[in-house]
Amino acid sequence: MKAIVNTTPGCADPWDAGSISVDQALSQIVDRIQALQDCEALPIRECLGRISGETVISPINVPGHANSAMDGFAVPAESLPVDGVTELAEIGIAYAGLPFAGDCKQGECVRIMTGAVIPDGTDTVIMQEQVDQLENKTIRIGAGHRSGENVRYAGEDIEQGEAVLASGSKINPADLGILASLGIGSLKVIRKPIVAFFSTGDELVSIDNPLQKGEIYDSNRYTLHGMLSQLQVDIVDLGVIEDNSDAIRNALLDASQQADLIITTGGVSVGEADYIKAVLEDIGQTEFWKIAIKPGRPLTFGSIGDSIFIGLPGNPVAVMVTFSLFVRTAIIKLSGAPAWQAPLFKARAMQDLRKKAGRHEVLRGIASNDQENGWQVEKTGMQGSGILTSMSRANCFIVLPAENIGVKAGDLVDIQLFEHI
Ligand code: AMP
Ligand code: MG
Repeated sequence: MKAIVNTTPGCADPWDAGSISVDQALSQIVDRIQALQDCEALPIRECLGRISGETVISPINVPGHANSAMDGFAVPAESLPVDGVTELAEIGIAYAGLPFAGDCKQGECVRIMTGAVIPDGTDTVIMQEQVDQLENKTIRIGAGHRSGENVRYAGEDIEQGEAVLASGSKINPADLGILASLGIGSLKVIRKPIVAFFSTGDELVSIDNPLQKGEIYDSNRYTLHGMLSQLQVDIVDLGVIEDNSDAIRNALLDASQQADLIITTGGVSVGEADYIKAVLEDIGQTEFWKIAIKPGRPLTFGSIGDSIFIGLPGNPVAVMVTFSLFVRTAIIKLSGAPAWQAPLFKARAMQDLRKKAGRHEVLRGIASNDQENGWQVEKTGMQGSGILTSMSRANCFIVLPAENIGVKAGDLVDIQLFEHI
């Protein structure tokens, strides 16, 4: 009798009816997740990288007073010569932090240092290199100066009442300096999302234990820990959970009590020991479970109570690729930050890259840039989704969108540098 083989969709198929596109998956994630609202007040040094929970209005002008941009001489502009030269009497000195107390009249000048308040009666600073300092505290100035030169005006950087930081913006080092320049010592920021994760798999052993035949060390929890540590989240590592639906259910319920986002790895395919999807359907909601992407096709997105759930595949490279695309997007939305995707650059492929239409593919690449060739990229050898060294050797992803049907050496491809991720 002739055997009948059921050709159900597999990883190698060009198109998979049940899967959604990368863009659909990203927009479902963004639509489903609500940004956190709770705030905490922190000393500004601790706010770097956090999301502001308030709009900051400047209580003062910066600079607070007109001051000198140069070391030189403060003069009344009317005393400057139109042509020829003029001599002015030096009547005092103004330091940064120690203003000149008197009033400067026509025919007089005040020696002034950078940052010092512009003395009363003056409105212009002549650089000291542009005057002759004579005997008897007298200076000689030539023509060609402009009224108001070398003066920084009160409020020219920030005006009192101006919004200097919008609610929802990400705090960078310059923002810390601006807050400090306004005398603001603490800021309300949105609390960090709490992210809990565990690995699933009977074959997984934690480091410090010996391996028996068929067992492997759990690496996903470490790459996840590394990738999460680069973001502003609080991390809860729930260890390894066996392939057993009760154990997985309990671990997910426990995680949903403490975390805003739950991430698991493994157990999301259609094998005998893949329980994640069935348990999620039982205790939560599933939004989607298959994406037309390689690596990372089986990815389950949904919710358990108030927690968002993302079940990543088990293969170590698939974990990193899907984290970078989908988990990061979820965390950015959750944290209240502005939407952000790592920028794509064009680079010239150094070899042919085979690719079937219909699914988005992410290869691991080594990009280089020199004067002669511009940006070039080559892949990091074997690209199997279990080959974690293909990730550690790489400095970029090579991103081949669904419609791409292969690349010839010399073609331009999109790359995403890891330093931007
Ligand atoms: P699964 O998605 O559970 O079928 O796992 C797919 C592949 O990834 C299998 O070869 C697993 O052994 C491997 N894998 C799953 N979880 C991990 C992990 N935490 N660390 C390393 N490899 C893993
Ligand atoms: Mg498994």
